[in-house]
Amino acid sequence: MKITRIETFFAHPDHRNLVFVKVHTDEGLHGIGEAYSVGPDDATAAAIHHFADWLIGEDPGRIEHLWARMYQGIRFPGGSVINAAISGIEHALWDIAGKRLGVPVYQLLGGRCRDRIRVYQSATGATPEQLAENARELVERYRYTAIKINPHPPGSDAMPWNAALRGAVARMEAVRAAVGEDVDIAVDPHAKLFEPSRAIAMAEAISPYHPLFFEEPIRPENVDALAKVAAHTRVPIATGEMLYTRFQFREILVKQAADILQPDVCCAGGLLECKKIAAMAEAFYVTMAPHNPMGPVATAVNVHLAAAIPNFLILEYHPDDEPPRRDLVDEPMKLVDGYLELPTRPGLGIELNEDAFPRYPFRTWHRGIPTRADGSLAFI
Ligand code: MG
Repeated sequence: MKITRIETFFAHPDHRNLVFVKVHTDEGLHGIGEAYSVGPDDATAAAIHHFADWLIGEDPGRIEHLWARMYQGIRFPGGSVINAAISGIEHALWDIAGKRLGVPVYQLLGGRCRDRIRVYQSATGATPEQLAENARELVERYRYTAIKINPHPPGSDAMPWNAALRGAVARMEAVRAAVGEDVDIAVDPHAKLFEPSRAIAMAEAISPYHPLFFEEPIRPENVDALAKVAAHTRVPIATGEMLYTRFQFREILVKQAADILQPDVCCAGGLLECKKIAAMAEAFYVTMAPHNPMGPVATAVNVHLAAAIPNFLILEYHPDDEPPRRDLVDEPMKLVDGYLELPTRPGLGIELNEDAFPRYPFRTWHRGIPTRADGSLAFI
């Protein structure tokens, strides 16, 4: 079997582009994948088409070899666009491998460690009451066993610190009261705290409400700073959505900077790369809570990863079975009582609905960067 062609597709169903990959073979089988929309998304598609030149004519079953060919062939350590492109292509190679052998992909990764995949969704709300109400609705509607909240209300960048800290406690308290003692609450300030000491203070303030984890309290560049946070709080620290490959996660583990790793299969290097990161984490008694804000193919890839790693904790999830996202694939992963079921079809168990994509055309987008009262940009 040989790779003959690689296609990319964009769809913009709600607030960002989704970047899909399709790898064709000379035997009629194809595989699909999803690359993170790290932006600029047309650059990610260009990188995928660049890699196609290296992959056409190759056996798609040589996944390790082809990954190394892309990763090492670039020579310079890959940044966001390159790692997103490699990740999307790699998913498609696993999809082909599963279809070729007639088994779900997780069977090729050592088999299933669990029967269903625990997921959480993020609740939103400007006030503690609105946040708590949304959390209660999500738990009641989807039977989630965990939800995630932002400790900062919108516009908090211009708030006095004491107000931000009291606000975080009020939000945590309201959500805990709304969902009860037996639903886990994760907290994600999206790397906005900046100073390690402030992150420690925030962790201690929310600690009485027993958060499942405190995600990305500070930015990812300085691992020593995160290690300081982790060393000074009892709240489990989670991080990893902005990190790539086993090489960057190695430093987090060696410096004991986190209790929970959150690689994203769409930009960390792909499915097997995340399995390797999970194995490294296991040796440090660290668990995995993969980052998953992208589309329905990303969720499918994550389900196979989560099924096949012993130290899985929980997966981020956004409902794929509702419009407009429902339109993008033939059959999204199925959510039952707060857990995703394992697919039984060969490969990833999901197919693109390409006919729908013209209804959600590519749009240039970027994150808004909050401005402080003095006109300076807030770090995010
Ligand atoms: Mg996050």
